[in-house]
Parts: sequence; structure tokens; C-alpha cells
Amino acid sequence: MIKHDVVVIGGGLAGMRAAVEAAERGADVAIVSKLHPVRSHSGAAQGGINAALGNAADDTPESHAFDCVKGSDYLGDQDAIEAMCDDAARQIIWLEHRGCIFSRRPDGRLAQRPFGGAGSPRTCYSADVTGLVILHTLWEQLERFGVKVYEEYFCTALCVEHGIGTGVVALNMRTGELELITAGATIFATGGAGRMYAKTTNGYASTADGLGIAFRAGLPIMDMEFVQFHPTSLKENGVLLSEAARGEGAYLLNSEGDRFMFKYAPEKGELASRDVVSRAEWTEIMQGRGIDGCVLLDLRHLGREKILERLPQIRELALDATGKDAIKEPIPILPGMHYTMGGIETDIWGKTRIDGVYAAGETACVSVHGANRLGGNSLLETIVYGSRAAQHAVDYVKSNGAAKPSERTLKAEQERIDEMLARQEGERAPQIRKRLNATMSENAFIFRDEAQLRKACDDVKEVREAIKHVTVMDKSKTFNTDLVGTMETEFLIEAAQCVVHGALARTESRGAQARTDYPKRDDEKWLVHTLVWRTDGDPRLDYSRKVVFTKWQPEVRKY
Ligand SMILES: Cc1cc2nc3c(=O)[nH]c(=O)nc-3n(C[C@H](O)[C@H](O)[C@H](O)COP(=O)(O)OP(=O)(O)OC[C@H]3O[C@@H](n4cnc5c(N)ncnc54)[C@H](O)[C@@H]3O)c2cc1C
Repeated sequence: MIKHDVVVIGGGLAGMRAAVEAAERGADVAIVSKLHPVRSHSGAAQGGINAALGNAADDTPESHAFDCVKGSDYLGDQDAIEAMCDDAARQIIWLEHRGCIFSRRPDGRLAQRPFGGAGSPRTCYSADVTGLVILHTLWEQLERFGVKVYEEYFCTALCVEHGIGTGVVALNMRTGELELITAGATIFATGGAGRMYAKTTNGYASTADGLGIAFRAGLPIMDMEFVQFHPTSLKENGVLLSEAARGEGAYLLNSEGDRFMFKYAPEKGELASRDVVSRAEWTEIMQGRGIDGCVLLDLRHLGREKILERLPQIRELALDATGKDAIKEPIPILPGMHYTMGGIETDIWGKTRIDGVYAAGETACVSVHGANRLGGNSLLETIVYGSRAAQHAVDYVKSNGAAKPSERTLKAEQERIDEMLARQEGERAPQIRKRLNATMSENAFIFRDEAQLRKACDDVKEVREAIKHVTVMDKSKTFNTDLVGTMETEFLIEAAQCVVHGALARTESRGAQARTDYPKRDDEKWLVHTLVWRTDGDPRLDYSRKVVFTKWQPEVRKY
């Protein structure tokens, strides 16, 4: 049996930041990750990380917080947002002092670019490879503290004894053995759920594992109906072209050559928040002003030098997928699934409703993004809330001592997996996932209505039934990716259930949830969080968690 004070599931930015914080505080901490940490999706983050550094005279943590509240369409908890924005500058300096190389201005100060929905340019960056640079900085810190990493371990379940979290069960993917990993505190930092959809900007490993595990362990999942569709993804492969392109001044054009965004957002144009821009693009495409189902991202006027200095990766990604050189031609793009605002419900210390269990990063819902996240805030959330969750977890372990483990969950998981492997007939997971992807992309996309969402609920119910009889063809032990992929599909189905039921019940349009049958925001009825609880049938929805207000009352949201 493996045993540590604190175990972090996930080696992306949230997981590594949590582990470094716990190590600095003297805890015996380990990371369990299905990927090598530096291969986590965080490494694909291009555009940057927000902090009000005071480079622009009027930029303060308070104005950053207001932008988040407005961006969230007033659904974000304002205490959580303020905690994040107040800590942002300190965290950037912390990263800098540990060797993170941010791009700079000619006067030596950190460079910041404008991002959608922001009142000032406050997105710090390392060219257009920001996530990768921060990820490597944190990896060096893990090495420095000698943090143990269980790499290529696939966590399958949370252990809960007498209402207290005592660690996890994980499949050692090299040996095929299930192992019990005991911990005084467990922090889930397992990232996003993009693979619910057919096309997404997310990596192949973004399969909602931690979220599915928490849901099965009886924790509520919050605000999952709010799915962010990023305005600029490539039609060919769903790959993202960062908002940094528009931040640096790129235009969006329709088939008539118009910069159409000013029709929808007279002040901000291309730099309105993501939900607004994606809806505008989709409206242009649906009204016949698209080109082959896309609109165009035009960088040409920025000039060769600026593109090569600030946006080199974006140019390469577009060139590889489309054969078009952004220096010479506009690039066809369309909105694509990008981020889940919702996740495992936590408080402002990353604590869940089970003692000793925490969540941070994209898998968590604190909630700082509410109904719509602003670009550059997710990286910030991973760093701030990764570190906060670890602070609380270390204190918790100090006052509660070691976990009292039991092999109960290990045995149950072993039986479940043996049963799955013993089955000789039945549909295979990739087919089931395809059906899930199809209904999510068709019926839970940018614009939704009751008929579509009912269909999505029915389809998700059907795939949930189908996966109970799934067959895993590969019966071998070593790197059984068929088995792992099947369990990932199970987690995606759990996550999708939360999305579609939450979206059907919420009869309003707010942030990323745009209901064509309920086009208005309804503050009287819907200024509440959605909590989804798992049952054997349809999930139970609960609206007992109110939105926290500190300074800002809801206003009409215009850009
Ligand atoms: C292409 C792209 C560009 C982006 N650009 C930006 C940007 O510029 N600015 C910004 O703020 N945000 C950006 N985002 C969003 C942001 O990058 C992510 O939300 C954030 O990095 C997620 O970090 P994380 O640590 O929560 O998860 P991840 O980085 O996804 O890491 C998840 C970790 O969990 C592990 N894991 C998962 N399941 C299991 C399991 N069952 N067992 C064991 N380990 C498991 C994985 O191995 C991995 O290490 C971008 C996202 C994408 C997809």
C-alpha cells in the first residue's frame, strides 16, 4: 500500500502548483497522473494568464474582479473571484522568482496583452506558449523538492470511510495492477471534459475523470450546463487558435468581408467576451454569411514581424492544418468546445463536502467563472486555487492525522474491472463514445432549446445503459488502453449527464447557456447555482446554493 500525507490526482498546472505548495509547507506529498505531468493539457495553453500588475494606471485587482463578475453574467461567487484577483500579482511574482520566463516590454516590465471582456490589457504571457513555460517551471520545482510522481497511474475511484476521504484506487498502467493509495488529504486536479464533444480544443486526456469519480462518490457537480465554445478553433481538427490573435489586433470577417463583431458588441468588437463572440459567429454562419461553415480570422494587417514574434505557434498550427499562411491569408475558423465552467463543487479553499477531499483547476467549480469564463482566468485559477487547496489540505492533515485506510474500495474496483474484462460480448467503448459525442455536438451546442435538450437527455440515458454492457476486447495487463479508454468514456457520460440535465432545467439564457426558447436572463428565478447529484436513474437537481455577492449587483451585460 502506498501512503502519503497529501495525494494530488493530476499533474497539470493545478496539480503541480498544489504539490509544490504542500511540499513547501513540509508535507509528504505525491502526484498520481495518467500522463507524464508536462504532457498535461495545461501545456497547450497559448494566450496567457491574467493579473492586475498595475502596469496600466487604472488596472487594479478590483477592476479585474469586476470584469470577472460581469463576464460570469453575475453567476460567479464574488468572494471567490476577489480571492483570485487579489492573489494574482503575488502568484505571477512567485512564478517569476522560480524562473518562469514571461515576455517583457522594452522598459523591462512584464508585457500584458488585451483579452476579451477585460477593461485593461492584463494578460501576462510567454509569446504564445504560456502554459508550457509555466508547466516546465513547476516541474523543476517538483524535482527540487523531490516530490514523488506516480506516472501512468490511472485513478479509478475515491476511497471514503465513515464520511472521510482516505485516498484513491489507481490502475498502474504498466503492470495492470490496481493499487491502493492512501492519503490524509486527496486533491483532484484532473482537468477538463472536452472529449464529451465530437470536436474540442482539449487534449485526448480531457475526459472528466476526477469529476466522474467525485460524482460517483456522492459529491455534487455544479453549473455544468455552462460549456464554453471558443470563438476561434480550426474546422479541420478542432485545434485552438488562441484569443491572443484577437488580443494582438486580428479581425473577424464574414463572407462579405465585413468586420461583423461591431454589430453585436459595438464597443469591444472582436474583444467582447467569448460567449458573445461565438454566438455572433454562429449567427453569421447560420444566416448564410459564412464560408464553408466558417468565418475568417484575419491577421495580415499585423505584419510578418509581429506575427512571428508574438504568435508563431498560431501561425504554425494554422499552416499545418489548413495549408494557409496567416501572414498572407485569412484563416477559416469556427466556434469549438473549449472549457467547462462547472465542475466538482468546492468552497473558496477548494474543499468539497467530503472531509479530506479537495478539487482545483478545471475539474473544480469554486465558482470564479460563473456562466462564462474570461480568457486568461483559467491558468490563474489553477495557480491560485491549486495553492489554496494545498494550504487547507496540509492544515487539515496536521490537525487530523493519518487516514485510516480500508481495502473495501480496492476490492470493489477490482471486481468491477474483472467483470468488465470477463465480458465477451457487447458494444465497444469507441462506438458508445461516438454516439455520446454526436448528441452533445448536435443538441447541447452554442444555441439550445427544450426539444434538443430532451433528445440529449434521452441519448445520454441510452449510452449510460449501453456502457453497462460494454466489452473490452484487449484482455492484457500491460498498457491496456482499451480498458482505460472504456473507463474514460464512462466518466464522460457522467459529466454529460450533468450538462444536459442542468441545461434542460435552466429555463433562461445566461453566459454560455443560450436557450432560443428562453432568450432572456431571468435573475428572479435563476440567480442560483445548479447542483447535480448522482442517482441510478436521472440525476437529482438542487438549487440550494446561492450566488455570493460582495460588491456588485447584477446589471445588463453589454460589450
Ligand atoms: C488549447 C487550449 C488553450 C488554452 N489556453 C489558455 C490560456 O491561454 N489561458 C488560460 O487561462 N486558459 C487557457 N486554457 C484553459 C486552461 O489551459 C485549462 O483549463 C487548464 O490548464 C487546466 O489545468 P488543470 O491543471 O486543471 O488540468 P490539466 O492540465 O488538463 O491536467 C489534468 C491532469 O490530470 C491527470 N489526470 C486526469 N485524469 C486522471 C486519472 N483518472 N488518473 C490520474 N491522472 C489523471 C492528467 O494526467 C493531467 O496531468 C486553454 C485550454 C486549451 C485546451
